[in-house]
This record gives sequence, structure tokens and C-alpha cells, in this order.
Amino acid sequence: MDCLFCEIIKGNIPSKKVYEDDKVFVFLDINPNTNGHMLIVPKKHIVTVDDIDNDLAIHILEVEKKLKRLLEEKLNIEGLTIVQNNGLGQDVKHYHVHLIPRYKDDNWKTIYNKDILKDIEETIKEITN
Ligand code: 5GP
Ligand code: ZN
Repeated sequence: MDCLFCEIIKGNIPSKKVYEDDKVFVFLDINPNTNGHMLIVPKKHIVTVDDIDNDLAIHILEVEKKLKRLLEEKLNIEGLTIVQNNGLGQDVKHYHVHLIPRYKDDNWKTIYNKDILKDIEETIKEITN
């Protein structure tokens, strides 16, 4: 099965590379939420958080911190939102972490909907029982 991000990692599809090492490939998102939006992609083809081993998870965290510092220095970001979709909401089925730079007045919003919160007591029972 052809995988878009595997093809980008191999260089068969062009991308704007930001960083690369033996475990991850990082490039700018083609449809950015904010300036500098990038994706950290493991070179190994895995799909969701269920597939990730601890060593790789720690490595990705280290890369997140390195790139946060880079964005602070180069783009003067004021915050960084980190998103990783699994299943519904995940368009590309190759694990990736979004680094979304935050700027004052950037209008980037996570959707919260208080109306759909049925009953917090019910929810905690469902989750923990
Ligand atoms: P997901 O919805 O799977 O979490 O995010 C997939 C992301 O990949 C989206 O933000 C989308 O803009 C980005 N994307 C999809 N196709 C390409 C591509 O060909 N090149 C690059 N650089 N980004 C892509
Ligand atoms: Zn892949």
C-alpha cells in the first residue's frame, strides 16, 4: 500500500524539510494552521499511538523540545500547540505529530462545546468503572 508520508520520507514526493535524523523526518505542513506548522513523522511506518514504542516516543518528545526552541528563536512564536490525531480526524494513516506555532491574535481554536457535555458524573463513571 502506498503511503504518502513514506513517499515524502523517501524523497519521492517533495516536501519542505525542517529536520531529519535516523528516527524521524520533519517537514512543513502543506496546509498550515499557522506560520511554521510542521509535522514530526517517524521513519518507521506506524499508524496510531498504539503502535509507538517507548524509545521512539521519548525521542519524538526530545525533537519536539528542540524544534520548539528553534521556532522561538527563528519565528518568535509565543506558544506551541501539539496535536496528534488517531482514527477519526486522522487523514494520513502514518503516525505524525503536529507542531502548531501560536501567535497573539492567530485565531487558532480548539473546538470546545459545552452543550454536548452530558453529565460529568456519568462520564467519569463510564470511564473508570
Ligand atoms: P491529520 O489530519 O492526518 O492529523 O493531518 C495530516 C496533515 O498532513 C494535514 O495537516 C495536511 O495538511 C498534511 N498534508 C497532507 N498531504 C500533505 C502533503 O502532500 N505534503 C505536506 N507537506 N503535508 C501534507
Ligand atoms: Zn507510511
